[in-house]
Amino acid sequence: MASFITIDGSLGEGGGQVLRTAVALSAVTGKPLHLNNIRAGRERPGLQRQHLAAVRAAAEVCGAEVRGAEVGSRELTFRPEKIRSGEYTFEVGSAGSASLVLQTALPPLLCARGPSIVVVTGGTHNPFAPPYEFLAATFAPCINAIGARLSVTLHRHGFYPEGGGCLVANVTPFGARRRFEMVDRGAVRAVRVRSLVANLAAHIGEREVAVLRSRLNLPPAAARAETVRNAPGPGNVALVDIQCERITEVVSSFGEKGLPAEIVAETAARDALAYLNSGVPVGDYLADQLLLPLAMAAGGRFRTFPLSDHATTNIEVIKHFLDARFDVREEADIATVAVTPAP
Ligand code: ATP
Repeated sequence: MASFITIDGSLGEGGGQVLRTAVALSAVTGKPLHLNNIRAGRERPGLQRQHLAAVRAAAEVCGAEVRGAEVGSRELTFRPEKIRSGEYTFEVGSAGSASLVLQTALPPLLCARGPSIVVVTGGTHNPFAPPYEFLAATFAPCINAIGARLSVTLHRHGFYPEGGGCLVANVTPFGARRRFEMVDRGAVRAVRVRSLVANLAAHIGEREVAVLRSRLNLPPAAARAETVRNAPGPGNVALVDIQCERITEVVSSFGEKGLPAEIVAETAARDALAYLNSGVPVGDYLADQLLLPLAMAAGGRFRTFPLSDHATTNIEVIKHFLDARFDVREEADIATVAVTPAP
């Protein structure tokens, strides 16, 4: 049996990503993991339900024996066995992010012997996690570019805090692994804005779309306020799709009780303008989510904003498992990240 990789969960940002990356890579590499100080950097440290769901998903995919998988636990051991492709259903519980659970099960499934179908129920539209639209239009095409296949469909919306949504992912593992090169996004082809409103007044969507249209200078045809009918609970998100020649960025801003629709839309507009004005192809969130797939595939290079703490923490965790190199060059508020996997 390989010796344990021990990771201090208070490393870097000390949040849930340390845990998700660690269990995913333990499953991928077959190296057993001992994790302590789980989410020490957070107000409510230890495993919360959504982290637990991610651990269980990774464990199911690789038949891992897990100790310490309980709510509030600050220590975990994870002994992976063989990765199996197949049909999986993961239930996150009401408020947890289905996207983050999918992203934890994905790395081992990309290394399986056959394709998988993954059904995840939970939150499909949660603040602080990738919403469905981002997974489908921004993240999945990057996985396809590195020699595997991921497609994600939305069967039911689930907004935080009620959740109850459903995502279905089709995963085809790596064939020939390909290098990822994304230093230039090409021309901006289209910018579209949408507001989704579930079980709340429709004028919220109309007000958001009006602000977004005016701030981004868009014609009526590029904007839509949609009423979502299949979500169990209330929710609202303002989305900006920025379709470039080589990549699509999806910017999101979530409505909250007591937060005026105009402010929700202003936040989305500000983030969209920051992306448009920067010229970078890879936004902040995608940057931290790409590091692991690229280190597992054939590496690559991308231009992004200066790396977040989240991304640098992720690099540290990945280096515990893979012999990959990460070179980050920052210049005038733009970072170029080169990922070189082990020879
Ligand atoms: P903790 O509970 O410890 O704060 P967590 O598990 O909830 O941790 P993070 O560790 O902060 O969450 O990780 C959140 C992940 O969600 C990151 O990979 C980040 O890129 C992604 N993410 C957050 N917001 C968005 C967004 N609006 N669009 C796309 N991805 C997002």
